[in-house]
Amino acid sequence: MTHYGHFIGGSFVPGTDFDENRNPSDTRDIVGLYARGGEADIDAAVAAAEAAFPAWAGASLSVRSEALRRIADGITARQGQLADMLAREEGKTLGEAIGEVRRAAATFAYYSAEILHARGAVYDGLASGQSIETVHRPLGVIGIITPWNFPIAIPAWKSAPALAYGNTVVLKPAELTPGTAWLLADVIRESGLPDGVFNLVMGPGRVIGSRLCESAGVRAITFTGSSDVGRGVARSAVEHGLKKVQLELGGKNPLVVMDDADLGTAVAAALDGAYGSTGQRCTASSRLIVHDAVHDEFVTALVSELQTVTVGDARAAGTRMGPAVSAEQLQQDLDYIGLGGEEGAELAFGGEALHLATPGHFLQPTLLTGTRNDWRINQEEIFGPVATVIRVDDYDEAVEFANDVDYGLSAGIITRSLARARDFSARSQAGLISVNRSPAGSEYHVPFGGAKASSYGSREQGTAAREFFTTTSTIYTHPGEV
Ligand code: NAD
Repeated sequence: MTHYGHFIGGSFVPGTDFDENRNPSDTRDIVGLYARGGEADIDAAVAAAEAAFPAWAGASLSVRSEALRRIADGITARQGQLADMLAREEGKTLGEAIGEVRRAAATFAYYSAEILHARGAVYDGLASGQSIETVHRPLGVIGIITPWNFPIAIPAWKSAPALAYGNTVVLKPAELTPGTAWLLADVIRESGLPDGVFNLVMGPGRVIGSRLCESAGVRAITFTGSSDVGRGVARSAVEHGLKKVQLELGGKNPLVVMDDADLGTAVAAALDGAYGSTGQRCTASSRLIVHDAVHDEFVTALVSELQTVTVGDARAAGTRMGPAVSAEQLQQDLDYIGLGGEEGAELAFGGEALHLATPGHFLQPTLLTGTRNDWRINQEEIFGPVATVIRVDDYDEAVEFANDVDYGLSAGIITRSLARARDFSARSQAGLISVNRSPAGSEYHVPFGGAKASSYGSREQGTAAREFFTTTSTIYTHPGEV
């Protein structure tokens, strides 16, 4: 069994303690033994990143741009290996995993080009002869804490802009998916990035994640994960040195299906939005808010599509939906299905764990109908392939329910009316709004993030990322006497 160590100061370092990484499609399959880091490993990684910072911050734009391009090319060259690891340790289907790996490569390529466009501004001063310039400077060491559900896309969309704008990085991936992060570190090692610019420490969040937030050498923390952990991360990061903080958290996202919807579009959007990636997406549209006039037809059509979804081993040909990531996640999904029954929901499809040829955490795609928006199953993030239907009488009620939740990450509407689409976009409280498409997908070149309990701090991705990964200096220059 192979042992995998942390990546600190340009080399892989052997760990002392290790955790098994198991395949959720077949729990007999141990992917590898990954180092379980402690506080000393974080301290060593932060020290390496601090030492590397001045030279990297001062490196020319072409050096940084070309380094990111090499990482993008390295990910592409190892796409098959990365996607196989991702599917094996996280449970996304191979097709979904390939898509995620491609996106990670595209993100590095994007920031390789984006920094060549990044510029400050020049203003005339109020005093005569004076000019004012703004410049965007790197912050220093960035602590990156990531979840298991996008084990390469999220590390990429945080690391690429961090590095592009001249910062150095310590990445702490989720305990359940160290393998993909380790391979990303290996791609970065091969790319020839200077020692210490990118570091990886694996292990338990409450030990090494919290150490990263407390570390005096870290200037900013960018976190994606659950709302409860995120709140603690922000508190600690501010308390320990007033670090800059960015949080991307949970969601409970609505998809509104109006009476004038094209039903094919609505069913396709619900299928992808609620069940894609086994429903384990922060942007998953798990609340289907459906107009009474099309309710029965929509539910019948969605159920008939769900009957065709093959659940199985994430890496097997023909699998449409992989397993839940872990036994705990599967149990949480089943508990919420049980709670839905207690709250009065009807089971329109699924609801059962599946026992297949391999021991894995398989669950039927599940649809609960006859639900009310104020029930817990409609207010709390389930994070599995479980969607609910909320029947509404009119458009205003649909908008009210869409917004009536603590979260505000994504929202969607299916309608043929341009006026309604525009009105929904104006009244939705979500950060990501979709019309006539699945609300779960997003693109890497535009701002990403939510509102209310879903996000905190500045937006990620696209040009918006510069706001978080740099600090602005304003330079006043007076020419003095000639
Ligand atoms: P999680 O909060 O359990 O863990 C996220 C990361 O935080 C992990 O690396 C974990 O080890 C670390 N961590 C745990 N305790 C910590 C502590 N005390 N201090 C510092 N770090 C700590 O989340 P998860 O289960 O990995 O991911 C699922 C959650 O992520 C869902 O709620 C989902 O909605 C959310 N998510 C949000 C987005 C978004 O962009 N809004 C994207 C993906 C996932």
